[in-house]
Amino acid sequence: MGDTIFGKIIRREIPAEIVYENDDVVGFRDLNPQAPVHVLFIPKKPLPTLNDAQPGDAELLGKLLLAVADYAKQEGFAEQGYRAVVNCNEHGGQTVFHLHVHLLAGRRLGWPPG
Ligand code: 5GP
Repeated sequence: MGDTIFGKIIRREIPAEIVYENDDVVGFRDLNPQAPVHVLFIPKKPLPTLNDAQPGDAELLGKLLLAVADYAKQEGFAEQGYRAVVNCNEHGGQTVFHLHVHLLAGRRLGWPPG
């Protein structure tokens, strides 16, 4: 468990541009950015998908979203806006099975997604 590419990033076994970190969460730039700002926020505890979160993970899930908002405020684009996305499993387009929130910002984002 936890031995995804994101687990290796948490353990600094492979390089990543880490832009945010606290006791529970790490944020790093996506390798293939879809917006001028594209940062992935992951819990240090490796839950594979959102489906795997249990009631006992409620605080951790809250911390994950709070980290996104904290970073957006810190970087000065919170008021202008951004999108926070969790992809889950095949139809959600999930490719890395360590729960993550995509933070996309820096341009007007289309809706609905394709
Ligand atoms: P998903 O499709 O699972 O929601 O998102 C996975 C994201 O991880 C993709 O946007 C992809 O570009 C990014 N990604 C995959 N491998 C790496 C990596 O080794 N380093 C970084 N920084 N991002 C990665």
